[in-house]
Amino acid sequence: MKTFVRCGELFTGDDDAAQKGAALVYDAAGRIVYAGPEKGAPKRRDGDRLIDHSGHFVMPGLIDVHTHLAYGNAKTEEDIDLYSPLEFRALRGMFFAQKVLAAGYTALCSPGDAGQVSLSIRNAIEAGLFEGPRVMAAGPYLTTHQGLTDWYPTWIGAPDTSIGRLVQSIDEAIQEIRRQVKNGVDCIKIAMDGIQRRPDGELIAAFTQEETDAMVRETHRMGKQAVAHAVGREATLYSARAGMDLIFHGFFSDGECIAAMKKAGSMLCPTLTQPKNVIEFTQPHEPAGQKGRIDATERRYRTGCANLKKAKKAGIPFLTGTDSGFAVTPYGEWHARELELFVDDLGFSTAAALRAATETNARFMSRGEEIGVLEIGRLADFTAWDGSPLADIAILQDKRRLRGVYLAGRAVAIADRPYDPRQVTDFSLSNWTDLYTQARVAELRGSRRRLEAAE
Ligand SMILES: [Zn+2]
Repeated sequence: MKTFVRCGELFTGDDDAAQKGAALVYDAAGRIVYAGPEKGAPKRRDGDRLIDHSGHFVMPGLIDVHTHLAYGNAKTEEDIDLYSPLEFRALRGMFFAQKVLAAGYTALCSPGDAGQVSLSIRNAIEAGLFEGPRVMAAGPYLTTHQGLTDWYPTWIGAPDTSIGRLVQSIDEAIQEIRRQVKNGVDCIKIAMDGIQRRPDGELIAAFTQEETDAMVRETHRMGKQAVAHAVGREATLYSARAGMDLIFHGFFSDGECIAAMKKAGSMLCPTLTQPKNVIEFTQPHEPAGQKGRIDATERRYRTGCANLKKAKKAGIPFLTGTDSGFAVTPYGEWHARELELFVDDLGFSTAAALRAATETNARFMSRGEEIGVLEIGRLADFTAWDGSPLADIAILQDKRRLRGVYLAGRAVAIADRPYDPRQVTDFSLSNWTDLYTQARVAELRGSRRRLEAAE
């Protein structure tokens, strides 16, 4: 039995243009046997199935290579690391993985998560226990005292339930990589820098070149991919020189970094959505607002985009990912915003942004040669949209326009199930965001009185 999909427009991911009046045909296993003009398609036989998307734009399922399934839409780092048992995080992550699928994302990479949360979600989906996207999983980040995820004072360290694993030497790092590979990760995530800066303001790389080389070498020896959080110049340079497969952020890449990425074949996932959402959504009264993060993030974003445009011009492959899993990037909500930001802030054409989120992202994913492009031999992971994202890339953020999500040719339907967000995260013991001195209280009472007088 074959399935014939009539497509108003077909965007294969292999070409910048969409074909009008095309057909997508696949076999019972969901493998594509034809993608092209409807008149050239194989003849339909008795028992073959017909799906009518003749009024829609058909394209490969979207891929987000930066969605943290264990984070739970967290408002604080403590919420990510401390308050929920790993078992609850896995169940919660499964629920949220389905939200990502329901948004038209048929695959994601979860690069850095606590325990074995992501790989358990991956395995449960692969075994057929739950409906869900294809998941590429990492374990906890390898980090040092200068790296992301070592948030707490040295006398507390990185607890077992946290997303970071402190490694104090090359030996410890190698043992941790071997442990994670035995557990079944697809990639190793390394926190190549964090928030610590030298007096001149430069972000300090968490690992030396020698340490980075050793970790990437061992990861590759195990047949796995190495991915890095690297915002600063030094961390990006060490990562690229070591042959890191994928570098997240790279906001302070200079010519030397770009040359090293090019030489090593490193790919870059800037992840613009998270900082853009921080800038636009954070309210002044929130802790991030009070700590000046809105302005600082905006400055970094502007510098980052200027540097990233140079990397794009040099031909570094760009991947799309959002850092979904924080309160500013809830699952299933903003994944396709990244494509809009690629167009608006990095100068991508709409077609190039679509190809980044499908064909280029698939090049990084585990078994990526089976997804990302609608061509003979690959799996029919596809989506159908009311309207053309080539004309308006923002329609991909409008779930009302999503008319079908298919995994290996099978239509998936995820119920839009309501839930209580207060029972999901935000268990931190923080209670107030202001300091109620007499002066502050007088100020607040004054503004309330002014409001009342104005009414
Ligand atoms: Zn991240």
